[in-house]
Amino acid sequence: MNAVSQSASPPIESMPKPAMLDVESIRRDFPILQRKVHGKPLIWLDSAATAQKPQAVIDRVSRFYEHENSNVHRGTHTLAEEACDACERARTRVAAFLGAFSMLEIVFVRGTTEGLNLLAAIFSESLLRPGDEIVLTAAEHHANIVPWQFAAKKTGAVIRVAPVDDNGDIILEEYEHLLGPRTRVVSITHISNVLGTVMPIREMTALAKRHGATVVIDGAQGVPHRRVDVQEIGCDFYVFSGHKLFAPMGIGAVYGRMEMWEQMPPWQGGGNMVEQVTFENSTFAPPPKRFEAGTPALAPAVGLGAAIDYLNGIGLDAIEQYETALLDYALEGIRSVNGLRLIGQPRDRGGVISFVMDGIPDMEVARVLDAEGIAVRAGTHCAQPILARFGLESTVRPSFAFYNTRAEADMLVDALRRIGCRR
Ligand code: PMP
Repeated sequence: MNAVSQSASPPIESMPKPAMLDVESIRRDFPILQRKVHGKPLIWLDSAATAQKPQAVIDRVSRFYEHENSNVHRGTHTLAEEACDACERARTRVAAFLGAFSMLEIVFVRGTTEGLNLLAAIFSESLLRPGDEIVLTAAEHHANIVPWQFAAKKTGAVIRVAPVDDNGDIILEEYEHLLGPRTRVVSITHISNVLGTVMPIREMTALAKRHGATVVIDGAQGVPHRRVDVQEIGCDFYVFSGHKLFAPMGIGAVYGRMEMWEQMPPWQGGGNMVEQVTFENSTFAPPPKRFEAGTPALAPAVGLGAAIDYLNGIGLDAIEQYETALLDYALEGIRSVNGLRLIGQPRDRGGVISFVMDGIPDMEVARVLDAEGIAVRAGTHCAQPILARFGLESTVRPSFAFYNTRAEADMLVDALRRIGCRR
């Protein structure tokens, strides 16, 4: 900050207090939270797997089908125009939400998995050479491992893995040590879906950029919990899934810097991504269309736009602040349960808590919680390597969103205490 902007800052005392969330009112926006499971009020602690949808999103998707449903072929009739416009408005919202320079930097995909596969497949054709290195962290989801294995196999590139410490924090010196002239791609999770670790992606990106690497961020767990500004992070690509962001399933986005997209060949061929086709040859549309072959998931895309509007209405900073306090509160209770071992104690945590209970299989813990109406995930979380790092095959993972409450955290802790007593 320079001297001028410092002197322009209001004194601390007069700064507005952080916005508090009206959680009860927010909860009324999510119809599913009113339902019961086994006669008990549903306590949804599985938002890291998929988040629930506010009425505004559900209504927007219905409105699309009730009023605008058409395929995208602009110029042929009114509904096609409206459908195209709705889709492009959603693209604009995603761009603004991620701090992209232009809406043309946003490619719609089915979700994070498809987005990462798109990048790995294209890089296999256009970027990776034998001996190149792809750097991942030990905390990656399978979606950010397996596509790179395909790419490595195809190109002769090699995967290197940056370790985490016993808290689940990245060991930055070791990560830095892995980087070098051969590092072509660095692909890292923003937030671990098992440990909740918020990775220092800005710093990690800056280190990778010193070696000219292309940096990809798996933002599946990042966007629901942290404000994202891709320009501030400095990454080349940022990938996320709509369904974890309170939007419909079947839609996600890949942000990419325009200079990158422009140089990249298409990955899937078909309608919408071409300019001219003959049996001998095809020419391709400019980005983002070049990477969106076939009929797009229009209604989910429009729903994603509505989800972003909804989140902006609450405020990402207020959400982060509320969730941080809620997680601290839940952690305190969970730590007090006898025979429970927390897995990972990261410096900065987003959304999830993982644990195991002595002598009680994880699936059984989840089943007993379900009987109390409490939905948590138990299993591998599609991230076997990070579990192996902690000597485990699975954990129990409650995950939180801004519609969860302290009362729900209390009920989880009480239920865990009762489960602990059964031993
Ligand atoms: N990366 C991370 C960190 C995730 O948590 C997930 C979903 N569990 C994915 C990628 C894959 O997301 P999707 O299944 O929506 O493609």
